[in-house]
Parts: sequence; structure tokens; C-alpha cells
Amino acid sequence: MKSLTLFSLTALSALVLSSCSATAPSATTVAPHTTSAPNIIFMIGDGMGFEYISAYRYAMSELGQSELAPTPFDDLLVGAATTYPDDDTWVTDSAAGATALATGVKSYNGAIALDANKNPQQTLMELAREHGWGTGAVATVQVNHATPASFFTHHPSRRMYNEIADSYAAQITNGGWSYDVLLGGGYSYFHRDDVNWLPQLTEQGMQVLTQLEELETVTDLPVLGLFAPKALPFAIDDRPERLAEMTQHALRLLDKQSQQNGKPFALMIEGSMIDWCGHANDIACAIHEMADFAAAVQVVRDYIATNPNTLLVITADHSTGGLTLGQGGEYAWHTDKVMGINSSIETMATTLAQLPREEWRDYLTPVLNLPVTDEQWQRLLSTQFDDSAQGRERLYPIHQVLASIITEHTRTGWTTSGHTAVDVPVMAYGPGADKFRGYINNIDIAKALIQLVR
Ligand SMILES: [Zn+2]
Repeated sequence: MKSLTLFSLTALSALVLSSCSATAPSATTVAPHTTSAPNIIFMIGDGMGFEYISAYRYAMSELGQSELAPTPFDDLLVGAATTYPDDDTWVTDSAAGATALATGVKSYNGAIALDANKNPQQTLMELAREHGWGTGAVATVQVNHATPASFFTHHPSRRMYNEIADSYAAQITNGGWSYDVLLGGGYSYFHRDDVNWLPQLTEQGMQVLTQLEELETVTDLPVLGLFAPKALPFAIDDRPERLAEMTQHALRLLDKQSQQNGKPFALMIEGSMIDWCGHANDIACAIHEMADFAAAVQVVRDYIATNPNTLLVITADHSTGGLTLGQGGEYAWHTDKVMGINSSIETMATTLAQLPREEWRDYLTPVLNLPVTDEQWQRLLSTQFDDSAQGRERLYPIHQVLASIITEHTRTGWTTSGHTAVDVPVMAYGPGADKFRGYINNIDIAKALIQLVR
């Protein structure tokens, strides 16, 4: 009798304990698990070398405080990757970089998911599709730009924007598209003078959106969101956290579909315009793009907190601009001045082109928020537009003077208007994260992800 009571109590407490541990998982508890492959969330900061993460962290921190501001990247770092292409240079472009990250094969600069002999290579997303997974991409540039294009299409040149849009519009043979969700810019490539894909896509069951706010009303996939004619505006000139907002909706919809069909999903999220700010040697622009990307990383981390069978990998395709923090012999990098700048250099130059010179100073003073010297004002006011060039190129001389004034005040260094060959960070979290540790080649990131889908 006694022993039976004892047994019952022990059994009861075991039951209570096990139910407690099931409802209150701690960091050391193994996730209630499942033998199914994890969801894959692959985040690419285009141009996001280590320098950009350093710059973002300092910009978020307060000088003189004992602690730096935490960022959503810090505890995810597992290693670094080399990014060289299969070309006559160590310096990759975004097409070869994305091809390496999407297919596990290096290629020439400009290639969209083709190898150096121009043979199409199966991408992570195509393989996932073959296995019935949900697939998608979110970007802040046009969806037919090099990085997203390399995950879904195959073209000999990244400049074939119309052909890439045509590939996205065409259904693949088994009666579906290669993606369930595709969000970014690029409306003007789908609705062109020679063809308008949008009515046909809608007729075939694709929900086509042109306003970011419309995402709220979408309850099921597939969805194609084209929220700007080409790229979205720079984050510094736009509403904050638009990448996070698109990411939130992509995850909501892919998760719902996954609950319904029992299949995992693979989603690529690109912080596309970190690179563009790097090309422009525009540090304030870059920090705001980093903040946009970091907010999206936080959205993904929040998703993983409740959906632990999800692998997050974050990396960059290359670094851009040769950014460094410190310039001209001075031991300083002035984050307060960087964070006081309210506009991208591109917007400043475009606005100056429309204003008489006597109004330049009034316009720029509150936008730059820098103690611009008389010599610097003189330099700016005496700069001529390049009237032999069109569009953005015409603004180049003014752009260069604005960039140099910002460099002189903030002590931000740049070595190039192009890319650099330095190693980039690799971050990973979740099932299989240990496969990305240490110093690795960028193609090995894709190979490890592809192995998880197989
Ligand atoms: Zn670039």
C-alpha cells in the first residue's frame, strides 16, 4: 500500500515535471522536435562587410558610455567567408556573389545562376520547390535585380532586367511559379511598353500588389509585391523598417501555408541597398540601410523564438566602397555627425540640381547638420554639373563634393566607388548552424543549405 502510494506520487511528480518542461522551454531545453527539415531563412546584406556592422553598432551607441549598444547580429556571428568569383579578379559583383550563395557554384561577374561556361545551375529555391517547399524572396531593390534573380532565374547577364522579369512572370511547367511570395520593387519591368504581365498574372491567380500597405489584407499565397517602379527609396529618405514590414508579412504567409501543407519553407531576405550607399560613399545612407536590415533580422529572430525548427543564416555577397572608420590621420570617427545627416547624398544632389545656387545653403544647412566651412561652401557652389551626361551621371561632380565634405567632418574613409575583396561575416542560428562555423568559402554556405533540403 505504502509503496504504491509512493510510486503514484513519483509518477505524478514526473508527469508534472515533464509537462512543466514542455510548456516552459529554457535555452538549454531541446526544442520539441520533429524530424522534418527546418525552414531556411537566408538573409543577405548586399555589400555588408564587417565594417558596416562595426559602423552600425557605433552609430547606435553613445560615445563615453561603458557599454556598446547591442545589435541583433552580435550573438549570431559564427565565422567569415571569402567571396572571390570565378573570373580574372578577386573582386566579385553581386551577380557572381548571389550565384555562389544560391547555387554553390562560383561564376563570372554578371552571371545569374549560370556557371563560368554559362550552364544553368540549380538554385536553393528551385531545389526547395522540387521538394514541395514554400519559397520566396524579399528585397528593397527591384525583384529582378542580381541577388533575388540569382535564386529563381538563369541569365547570362544581370543587365537583362526585362528578360529576368519575364522569367518571374512565366509559370514553371508543373503549373506554378517558382516562388510563393516575392516582395520588393520593379513594377516598371513587369508593366512595360512591349508587354504588361500584370493582368495575365492576376488571371492566373497571382495577387499582384503595388502598395506596401496592401500586404495587410493578403491572407493566402501566392503574392507578388512591386512597391516601386525600380528600387524602393533609400531608407534614410523613406519610412523606416520597410524591410522588416515586408519580412513580417512574408513569414506570416509562408508559415500559414506550411501549417496547411506540412512542408517547410525557404525565404531569402536581402538588405539590398547597403551596397548602393557604399557605391555612393554615403555613410549616413549606409547606417540607415543597416538599421532597416537589423530590424528585419529582429523580426526573423522573433519568428524563430516561437518556431525553433528554423535555420537562420546571414551573410553578405561582398563589401562595398572600402568603407573604414577613421580617415586623414585623425583618431576619431564622429557618429554624432553621421547621425545628424537627414538625407541621402543622392537626394541632396537631385534637390540642388532643381534649386538656384543662392538657395543651396538654406536647403543644405538643416539637411547636412554639419559645421560646413566657408572653403567647403565655396567648393560646393563653384562645382558644375556634368552637362555632357544624363540623369544621375550629370549630378556626379556635385555628389563627389558632398561626399568629400561629409568625409572631412565625420572622418569616414572610402577607397572605391566599387566593391572590395575583403572577407564578409557569416552568422547562423538554429538547427544545422554549426555547419557555417569558422573561415569558409561562400559556395560552402549554399552547399550546406542545399544539403538540408535534399
Ligand atoms: Zn554593388
